Amino acid sequence: ERLIAAETRPEDVTVEETIRPVRLADYVGQASVREQMGIFIDAARRRGEALDHVLIFGPPGLGKTTLAHIIAHEMGVGLKQTSGPVLERPGDLAALLTNLEPREVLFVDEIHRLSPVVEEVLYPAMEDYQLDIMIGEGPAARSIKLDLPPFTLVGATTRAGLLTSPLRDRFGIVQRLEFYGVEELARIVTRSAGIMAVGMTADGAHEIARRSRGTPRIANRLLRRVRDYAEVRADGQVNRTVAAEALAMLDVDAMGFDLMDRKLLGALIEKFDGGPVGIDSLAAAIGEERDTIEDVLEPFLIQQGFIARTPRGRVATRNAYLHFGLKPGQNAPS
Ligand code: ADP
Repeated sequence: ERLIAAETRPEDVTVEETIRPVRLADYVGQASVREQMGIFIDAARRRGEALDHVLIFGPPGLGKTTLAHIIAHEMGVGLKQTSGPVLERPGDLAALLTNLEPREVLFVDEIHRLSPVVEEVLYPAMEDYQLDIMIGEGPAARSIKLDLPPFTLVGATTRAGLLTSPLRDRFGIVQRLEFYGVEELARIVTRSAGIMAVGMTADGAHEIARRSRGTPRIANRLLRRVRDYAEVRADGQVNRTVAAEALAMLDVDAMGFDLMDRKLLGALIEKFDGGPVGIDSLAAAIGEERDTIEDVLEPFLIQQGFIARTPRGRVATRNAYLHFGLKPGQNAPS
């Protein structure tokens, strides 16, 4: 189990509920998303209309679910939550849609994993608030049409490119979340420490922030582990030394890389001579799913300039070699 996995782990669920910001003003970072959503929400509210459908994309743990809840809260409406893989049949989606209150938010996580038949039901629902569904089978089958209340679909996905274009085109608002900067993560850590009543110095928060891979969920998780360490090995106060010791013990290095990252970079450098190598070969070499590499491991490594994506495959950059104390390969990009 990976401590710095960006996906939700069971331990996160209850804690995340208590530290998740509920108002747009408390949503740290993502300045342009915040500004735009503030205006769109305000305008929709003034007109008394449902907000346009919103597609949020970005790597796991960056705040897609949080933003969906904030949208509902700021619109003053309820939210119903589901996810692409859960909606197996058209009837599953129909049941949710017909239970919505006017202007409510339907949040569909992993919306790229909707089955095609379910997606078909979504098109007229999004476009005209119409439900158009077949009931029964064989000669007795008939199609029924129902009016739905105006509602807002908020869809979340890790990469916009995973969506079919008819689905993508039906979102009026598309927001892309970026990795957070260290200062922003330090604010998130400080805020969470306050809620959890953990004594935290500014440099302690900074140390955790620096190793959190630009991801609030990881920052909050590291905070909890550092708190444990501080309670047992120190006086409960988290300062820079305590945070650094705790994270070193947890095998999270100064860049926030763990064993998996080192395995990926190590394979790229040692087995493939720094690349270029195709994603499938790389996946096979480290025994990981291709999707895990593309969605979870690689985005941060690319953003930090350790891996470059080229038409011929992945390449280790000079930074990657230097991180391992190796001499950069001749063709390694900077
Ligand atoms: P995603 O849905 O993208 O996987 P979440 O919305 O579940 O991510 O965010 C994970 C956790 O990180 C949340 O519980 C929340 O506490 C925290 N978080 C995410 N974005 C922010 C933010 N902008 N400001 C403060 N905390 C955040």
